[in-house]
Amino acid sequence: MPSTTDTIIVGAGPAGLACALQCQKNDKPFLLVEGSDRVGGRVGSIQEDGFIFDLGFQVYNTAYEITNSLLNLEKIDLNHFRPGAMVHDGNSFQMISDPLRDLSQAFGTLFSDISTIGDKLKVLKLKNSLRGYRVDHDNESDMNTYEFLLDQGFSDRMIEMFFRPFFSGIFLETKLETSSRFFKYVFSMFSVGLASLPDRGMQAIPDDMLSRIDRGSIVLGKKVIGMDKARNIMLDDGDSIQVENIILTGDSSCLVTNSSYKYNMAKTLYFSSRIEPAKGDYIHLFPCDDLINNIAVPTSISSTYTRNSDQLISVTILGNDLPEIDLIKDVQSRLVNYYGGENGNYEFLKCLEIKKGTLSQLVGHFDRPSFVHDNIFIAGEQDTNGSIEGAVISGLNVANLI
Ligand SMILES: Cc1cc2nc3c(=O)[nH]c(=O)nc-3n(C[C@H](O)[C@H](O)[C@H](O)COP(=O)(O)OP(=O)(O)OC[C@H]3O[C@@H](n4cnc5c(N)ncnc54)[C@H](O)[C@@H]3O)c2cc1C
Repeated sequence: MPSTTDTIIVGAGPAGLACALQCQKNDKPFLLVEGSDRVGGRVGSIQEDGFIFDLGFQVYNTAYEITNSLLNLEKIDLNHFRPGAMVHDGNSFQMISDPLRDLSQAFGTLFSDISTIGDKLKVLKLKNSLRGYRVDHDNESDMNTYEFLLDQGFSDRMIEMFFRPFFSGIFLETKLETSSRFFKYVFSMFSVGLASLPDRGMQAIPDDMLSRIDRGSIVLGKKVIGMDKARNIMLDDGDSIQVENIILTGDSSCLVTNSSYKYNMAKTLYFSSRIEPAKGDYIHLFPCDDLINNIAVPTSISSTYTRNSDQLISVTILGNDLPEIDLIKDVQSRLVNYYGGENGNYEFLKCLEIKKGTLSQLVGHFDRPSFVHDNIFIAGEQDTNGSIEGAVISGLNVANLI
């Protein structure tokens, strides 16, 4: 490791990786230091027992134009979920699709009883008004997402049966307290883009960015633990490095500020099954279920998520404290109810408890000023919005500032 460099970037999540790529492009010497042994931060996957387990159910949106420009999309080979969702109304699945994009399903959607004709027109209107939406250009008053949806005039049924479960699965909170600005951002992305998974799991995204960064400019498995006034950066193995600019991403921002960020939590349970859930190429939502928020079947769109012919089923649970053993049994019974068979047909594989899920972005979150002080910059999703694209944009912006 060098003893000095121009810029240190702390954290190799999407923000740190994008920042490193831009520094490299700008011929700015840098060192990217990551505390863990892999890159990607909260975006990634574990490969185990012949399956790919993403670190919680997460998707790449094809409308992420800035991130797209940094990736070799051909190599990553994105597989798409269909736009919309299959919604279980307590009795059976109903399809909510986007008839403008998913013409094959237009008939089913038009006659689904979840939304009224008025709701459909309002979706269309919102879609048009949010084309090219940018949080930093939004001058409308901020409110929470639930209030915003009421304000837009959506029916209670449309809110409860579609918006609440769909956006709870993204915000990882069920009250829809998240700022309407983040709602508008996500809605605008889903209006034009498709929820996708790379062929080799979400880890393929940061790995692809890493593949274009000079290996001599990256250190993995070392945590930054402090800095002094002379800009000596201390690492947890006793090494230190003197730098000019300090870019802090992820939790490393706590090295200079007391304001810690809050995150919403989720649990993702993975099961394998010979039973293939019907319409697994849609995300499945469960507004009437007090345990399961959503179910996705990655193998329905990408066979590489398993090495055998079984289906991989990912179940997202929000806010539940049941002991794992009870939770597994309970979820298995519900899978039987939704997809048939018996409990033994759904083999439990893994439970991921995600304490740091989506960044909590309550009303007012987006009014906070950026942190730039004495050549110390805080970058990452906290500075833009809690998404891969938000983190990448922040990383690029900071690299261009120094
Ligand atoms: C379950 C889940 C689902 C999600 N779903 C989606 C989705 O579908 N679509 C979407 O766009 N976004 C999704 N997100 C959000 C997305 O993952 C984040 O917005 C993004 O990862 C933020 O990137 P970042 O680089 O700012 O921070 P992080 O990804 O948190 O990366 C920060 C990095 O900094 C490192 N680090 C921290 N402190 C130090 C230190 N002191 N020294 C060295 N290294 C340090 C960490 O190890 C980490 O690698 C999801 C997140 C979760 C958890």
